[in-house]
Amino acid sequence: MLASTMSNGLPLYLDNHSTTRVDPRVVAAMLPMLTENYGNAGSVSHPYGWEAAEAVNRSRETIAAAIQAKPREIVFTSGATESNNLAIRGIAEHPRRQGDQILSVATEHKAVLDPLARLQRRLGLEIRLLPVAGVGSDCPGRLDPQQVADAITDRTALVSVMLANNEIGVIQPLAEIGAICRERGVPLHCDATQALGKIPIDARTLNVDLMSFSAHKLYGPKGVGCLYIRRGAPRLRLEPQIDGGGQEQNYRSGTLNTAGIVGFAKAVELCLAEMPTESVRLRGLRDRLFERLETRLDRVVLNGPPLTPELRLDNNLNCSFALVDGEALMMSMGELAVSSGSACTSTNPEPSHVLRAIGLSDDATRSSLRFGLGRFNTEQEIDRASDLIVESVARLRKMSSMA
Ligand code: PMP
Repeated sequence: MLASTMSNGLPLYLDNHSTTRVDPRVVAAMLPMLTENYGNAGSVSHPYGWEAAEAVNRSRETIAAAIQAKPREIVFTSGATESNNLAIRGIAEHPRRQGDQILSVATEHKAVLDPLARLQRRLGLEIRLLPVAGVGSDCPGRLDPQQVADAITDRTALVSVMLANNEIGVIQPLAEIGAICRERGVPLHCDATQALGKIPIDARTLNVDLMSFSAHKLYGPKGVGCLYIRRGAPRLRLEPQIDGGGQEQNYRSGTLNTAGIVGFAKAVELCLAEMPTESVRLRGLRDRLFERLETRLDRVVLNGPPLTPELRLDNNLNCSFALVDGEALMMSMGELAVSSGSACTSTNPEPSHVLRAIGLSDDATRSSLRFGLGRFNTEQEIDRASDLIVESVARLRKMSSMA
C-alpha cells in the first residue's frame, strides 16, 4: 500500500481537484526518459531519437485506447489550459470557421471562459453561456441537453461543455449533448480534465469532436496533457496556436515532453486498471466525510448534485457551513489542505462563479469549501479531517456569536 499523505509532516491533502501527487510508479516510468532515453523524439538520425519516438508512440497508443480513440487523434500539449485554447481558438480563428457564435456553459473552468471572453473582445464573436439547473432541482449544476438544442443556430461554430466540474463534481449528460451537436453538424469540444481516470470515457459514444485532458489531475506530472481531435469527415479545421517545428501534425509545434508523456500514459494506465475498486473506495470515503460533518454540525449544506455515481464525481464534496466564512475556516485549519474554489483562480478573490451559477447566495458561496479526495487518502485521514472541520466550524461560530 502506498503511503498516506499524513506521513510527511505537511497538512493533510484533500485538494486533489487542484492537482495530485505523482504516483511513485509514474515517477519510476518517467525516470529513464530523463536519464538514459533523453533523445528528442524528432531526431531521426540516431537511436536516442528512435527510442524516444518509440516511447511517445506507445504512450499515444495507451492514451488513445483509454478513450476509444485512434493514436493519431491525440495531440500532446502542456496541459488542459493549452488544450482548451487550441480547441476553442483553433476553431474560432480558422479562416473557414462555420459561424460567429459559440455556445458554452456558465459553470465552465476559466480555461474555457477566458479564451471565449477574449474571442468576444477581439473577434466580436457572440458567446452564449447556457445556465445550469439550480439549487432545489434534482441535480444542481446539470446542463439540460434541451438548452443546447434550443440555442444552436446556423451561426453556431462550436459548442463547449465540460464532462465533470472541478468545483461541484457534476457530470454533464455529454452523450446526449453530443448527439444533438452531431445531428445539427456543430463541432463539440469537451473539457474532460477532471473526468479522465475517474469515470469511463468513450470518445465515440460521447459524440465529441475535441476533448481536453491533463496529466497532473490523475497522479501524473504537471505540464503535460493532450487534445483529442476526432478524425472523420468532414475534417475539423483548427488553426494552430503554436508554430515552429511542425510536431504533432502541425497542430502544436515544440519538442515533445517525452518524460511527461510517458508519465501521463503510465498514470492513465494505472487509473484505468484501478478504477473499479478505487471509485468505490473514494465514494465510501467521501460519503463518510459528509456524514461525519452532517451529523456533528448544524446547517451543513451539500452544494451541487446528490452523492450519486452517475451525477457526481466520487472524489468530490462541496459544502457550505452557514455563518462561517470559508476563507477564515480554511485559514483556521492549518493541518488541512483544501480550497474554497478553483485553485486556478485563487489569485482572484471573487466568490465562485460555479456556486453562483447554481443559485447560491453570496453568503452561502462565501461559506463553502471544496474537498477533493484522492488515491493517497486513507480512512484515518478522513476521520482526522472531519474532526478538524467540526472543531473549527464550532469555534468560528462561537466566536461570531460573541462578537
Ligand atoms: N479544466 C478544468 C476542468 C480543470 O479543473 C483544470 C485545472 N484546474 C484545467 C482545465 C486546467 O488544467 P491545466 O492545469 O492542465 O492547465
